Amino acid sequence: MEQDWRLNGQEEYLQDAILYKVVFPAFWENAYNEKNMFFQKISEYAQNHVAHFPDKKECLEGEKIQLFWHEHCEFCWEKAMTNIECEFYCTKDMRWWICKDCFEDFKDKFGWTVKSADELLD
Ligand SMILES: [Zn+2]
Repeated sequence: MEQDWRLNGQEEYLQDAILYKVVFPAFWENAYNEKNMFFQKISEYAQNHVAHFPDKKECLEGEKIQLFWHEHCEFCWEKAMTNIECEFYCTKDMRWWICKDCFEDFKDKFGWTVKSADELLD
């Protein structure tokens, strides 16, 4: 059988990983209301960006800061955004993101354990 095009050595860092299920936009809305760790992370990106592009300052207002953030599925490159309905799985450090389809296709092969997004924020 031919190897799936999405597989490219990810087992080196994602084998037996613990993944946290994140559903947007709910995850963002909650972050925005609670000003939790995810909100702080995005806020930091936004501040850094505006430090280089001061004319974008109005983008720091309210929920606009979410537009500074997006991630890609580590397998198929599907885009994760806070304001689009989607389900993703990420590692505790939020470095690696996996879309729902790839998660379903590879969960057995990689032996992933899933935890809730609440635990991600602990
Ligand atoms: Zn994917």
